[in-house]
Amino acid sequence: MSYIVAIDGPAGSGKGTLTKVVAEELGLVSIDTGMLYRCHALAVVRNNIDINDKENIIKIMDEIEINLVNENNIQTAFLNGENVTDKIRLPEVNNIVSLTSSIPEVREKVTNLERRIGYDWLKEGKNIIMEGRDITTVVFPEADVKIYLDATPIERAKRRLAQDTRNGIEENFTEVLESIMARDKNDMNKKVGALKRAPDAVYIDSSKLNIEQVKRKIIDVIERKTKDK
Ligand code: C5P
Repeated sequence: MSYIVAIDGPAGSGKGTLTKVVAEELGLVSIDTGMLYRCHALAVVRNNIDINDKENIIKIMDEIEINLVNENNIQTAFLNGENVTDKIRLPEVNNIVSLTSSIPEVREKVTNLERRIGYDWLKEGKNIIMEGRDITTVVFPEADVKIYLDATPIERAKRRLAQDTRNGIEENFTEVLESIMARDKNDMNKKVGALKRAPDAVYIDSSKLNIEQVKRKIIDVIERKTKDK
């Protein structure tokens, strides 16, 4: 029987990287749900919709087509057929995505999309690992394995800065730290789909661990929880 691994955690906690390496080692299909919210936020930026114009932020969701293609665990995001995988990481998207994704109507649509993507893979007999903010609590509360991955804000800002620099995005540490802390605040205080620890999620603090150490911890949890599957 196929199984679902759900991982939540704040920006820069390493969910993206860890989900990918764990998926590679165990042969799971990895799904980064932040990319879906980012595609919608990019559409808001491109259409010059004001961040306070809730009505149009909701409306644009019905006018765009978002697709996530997963090949060999490399995910590509398409917005109306255009590959926007790099563009959705730009600072102008980072700055609004926690606000646009806090609108319940937007979340409802993305949640449905996430479930559909997940079930499509399960139907194909694949095991999935899905990461985001509300996967363990809202999207797949029935997941076989639930993990909350955390790290201190400073550590997360260091990682995000290194990642952005690798991707050619110019920023300084203070900007990144401020942006991460603002996003934490928005993400943790959403009316619907707020980032929180599910009572039955395994808590992992990665602040003092390297990727390999966190990977081992996550794989141990998955193996323990799915040994009868
Ligand atoms: O994971 P990532 O940082 O790429 O996500 C971008 C933003 O999308 C988050 O800051 C959060 O506001 C939103 N998000 C969400 N629920 C998810 C995944 C992401 O609200 N499941």
